[in-house]
Amino acid sequence: MTLGLTTRLLHADHFKGVEHGATHEPIHTAVAFGYDNARDLVAVFQGERSGHVYGRQGSPTLGAVERKITMMEEGTGTVSFSSGMAGIAAVFWSLLRRGDHVVSSQFLFGNSNSLMQQLEAIGCEVTMVDATDAAEVARAIRPETRIVFTETIANPRTQVADLEGIGRLCAERGLLFVVDNTMTTPYLFRPGAVGAGLSVNSLTKSISGHGNALGGAVTDTGTYDWTKYPNIHDSYKKGPPAGWGLLQVRKKGLRDTGGTLSGENAHRIATGAETLALRLDRACDNALRLATWLQAQPGVKAVHYPGLPGHPQHQRAKGLFRHFGALLSFEVDEGRDLFAFLDALKVIIKSSHLGDNRTLAIPVAHTIFFEMGQARRQSMGIAESLIRLSVGIEDYADLQADFAAALVATAPAK
Ligand code: PLP
Repeated sequence: MTLGLTTRLLHADHFKGVEHGATHEPIHTAVAFGYDNARDLVAVFQGERSGHVYGRQGSPTLGAVERKITMMEEGTGTVSFSSGMAGIAAVFWSLLRRGDHVVSSQFLFGNSNSLMQQLEAIGCEVTMVDATDAAEVARAIRPETRIVFTETIANPRTQVADLEGIGRLCAERGLLFVVDNTMTTPYLFRPGAVGAGLSVNSLTKSISGHGNALGGAVTDTGTYDWTKYPNIHDSYKKGPPAGWGLLQVRKKGLRDTGGTLSGENAHRIATGAETLALRLDRACDNALRLATWLQAQPGVKAVHYPGLPGHPQHQRAKGLFRHFGALLSFEVDEGRDLFAFLDALKVIIKSSHLGDNRTLAIPVAHTIFFEMGQARRQSMGIAESLIRLSVGIEDYADLQADFAAALVATAPAK
């Protein structure tokens, strides 16, 4: 019997078996795991037996979340982290060496963009390209290229990378394709389906959904042949090659840096994930309706949302994703005071988070993209008046009414 995603998520712990027939994996807070037989401890340490040795590298509670993410991504394994950024950083930290080259989408969330600059500072090279066109990625590839990195739908301008084209290109060249799947989640899209070897998710966002836990995950989709990757340490070439890359990410990216997810947060993420499909169905529907309505308002200059037929990658998004996502961005007309407009919103919260059950708005150039300066913002298509809107699951009419009132209240004097 093939079960649906929500059924599998709801029953995952119970199917595996939890003491007392509990339907949830409990929150394990132990840092230390004791063994009666010293040889068993040694076998776990040396990777010859599965088990836990120390809380920084995992626990049964983290294992339960990791299994659920692996199941959603239809991958072969997952390593969880204390945040999405910890997961993204771990991929590059653990898999690159000095002199290596990365091709990255130039349309990246601000902190990932900042991370790319730091990679350059420590001796790697990064070429930022327009990843909506696989030909641009192909042109940037060099003999030292190790990783190609993109988001699915870029935060905040919603450009959709040429995921299929880049996947084919990486397969031809034996390159590791890493996709940040945060904006789509495995419910809307599986990076493994286009040949990405690693899928990274911020669990802080839609997967947990309630804005009450930070977390991240790196999943091996099972599509990459790790024997082609030159930077795997000999000590991690243990067992079948399919497991080499993620073992190195767990050892070098998690164990050696300590960006470990807490048991409490893992539990919140796991319970939040149970309703991922229900929440995203609603949030994406709200986002499509809002984008369509906002686009028709005289006070709104531009709306960026892949679900709109005028979006440059609308057809691509339609072919790749179950829905068009819960994030849109828009620009208000020039004569309007951006801050007065935001302050006039009564239901929508001004906040930098996204993927929350609540709808959140933020002026992009002044906050999350402030540090990079105007020139870089322009190259990423970020207008100075851009507002990012992470659409939640409120009753749609309340969201539209909030915007309608704010547009009227801040209309420029004629
Ligand atoms: N990736 C994307 C696309 C994001 O938008 C974010 C955060 O906004 C992250 C990664 C980082 O996630 P976290 O806040 O859990 O570190």
